[in-house]
Amino acid sequence: MTGSRTFTMIKPEAVAAGHAGKIIDMLIENGFRIKALKLTRLSRQEAGTFYEVHKERPFYGELVEYMASGPIIAAILEKSNAVEDFRKLIGATDPMEAAEGTIRKRFAESKAKNAVHGSDSDDNAGIEANFFFSGRERF
Ligand code: ATP
Ligand code: MG
Repeated sequence: MTGSRTFTMIKPEAVAAGHAGKIIDMLIENGFRIKALKLTRLSRQEAGTFYEVHKERPFYGELVEYMASGPIIAAILEKSNAVEDFRKLIGATDPMEAAEGTIRKRFAESKAKNAVHGSDSDDNAGIEANFFFSGRERF
């Protein structure tokens, strides 16, 4: 059975550009309920840990700098089939390939600065949620 929760971040450039409200509105309109939410900032070290799976990729250094470059909004979202449905709503990594109506099609600047993160599995959704939120911060 697939899980009912996923984890998302609104990435630094999207927060700085003032898109956070519209992105949050879009995910609520698409049936996701907010179970935890905060404005916070990753240190370089934390960003490096969060994206550790990409350590060997050529863009890793750039990715870590970018994700630590300013405040992000972190959230836990609830919906049936949350991980897969949210990946559909955010669209392809590269906004040039993202479908019409997706968050990245509408708000991403580039493949690197692509507005939002979405967990890629139930296990990672749990790990990522625990990285940001204590028990008393989730509902
Ligand atoms: P995310 O994990 O942030 O939800 P994703 O699962 O769609 O994105 P990943 O392959 O996990 O994509 O890549 C993680 C992030 O690394 C991307 O969202 C993007 O910000 C950055 N990234 C991925 N590929 C590239 C690339 N070729 N050049 C620059 N940055 C990239
Ligand atoms: Mg990913």
